[in-house]
Amino acid sequence: MLSLRGVTVRFGDRTALDAVDLDVAEHETVCVLGPSGSGKSTLLRVVAGLQRADAGRVLLAGEDQRGVPAHRRGVGLMFQDHQLFPQRDVAGNVAFGLRARGVGRAEAARTVAGLLDLVGLPGAGRRAVAALSGGEQQRVALARALAPSPRLLMLDEPLGQLDRSLRERLVVELRSLFGRLGTTVLAVTHDQGEAFALADRVVIMRDGRVAQTGTPLEVWRRPASEFVARFLGFEN
Ligand code: ATP
Ligand code: MG
Repeated sequence: MLSLRGVTVRFGDRTALDAVDLDVAEHETVCVLGPSGSGKSTLLRVVAGLQRADAGRVLLAGEDQRGVPAHRRGVGLMFQDHQLFPQRDVAGNVAFGLRARGVGRAEAARTVAGLLDLVGLPGAGRRAVAALSGGEQQRVALARALAPSPRLLMLDEPLGQLDRSLRERLVVELRSLFGRLGTTVLAVTHDQGEAFALADRVVIMRDGRVAQTGTPLEVWRRPASEFVARFLGFEN
């Protein structure tokens, strides 16, 4: 579904991504882990078309995305600070991407109702987003990202600001939701437990490079380097 080949992004003399190769298969959930500044968000932004690559190729379903604008890539992106529109109600937020794509009012309303059921907020369409809890707002942001049926859903610290118990519950719900929908997911998280619970495969980044990739169990059992072992919290 997604392939990166030699993707390099520089900011001045700083290399945020250094010849990154990465593949995400259809229906797969891949979680990207790594220290702050290792290039995780840049990776998502370059796939989304919000950041230009200085070298390398991004392929979606085999098609080179060079020159394809963000809104034509068919990817959904959810940021950590989910930036809901405070002046719109829940339904208005979720419907935003649909209306912008020319979906009619009635069809958009049906889709929104279905998505709110999916994320566990049935009937919440008319509620004001400012009156929702943090966890409820993140569900709304997730429903908004899912609304245009993206072929690839990318989440940057989707549960970042929530407390641990809510995060643990949402991770389980997300995992089952993605399974049911067959969504292909690329998610960034700081939280190892979250990544290991959510991912079919994890990617560990270091200084703009992929330090290791594998199933959570593989990485846990056989860290490829001392860096990965330390990052996972193993003492040596
Ligand atoms: P965090 O876990 O803190 O979110 P990250 O892994 O997402 O970190 P990135 O945001 O991808 O890291 O940043 C990678 C590197 O690129 C960092 O050194 C960062 O300072 C730099 N960088 C990112 N965006 C820009 C920008 N717009 N201009 C200049 N430098 C940038
Ligand atoms: Mg980041």
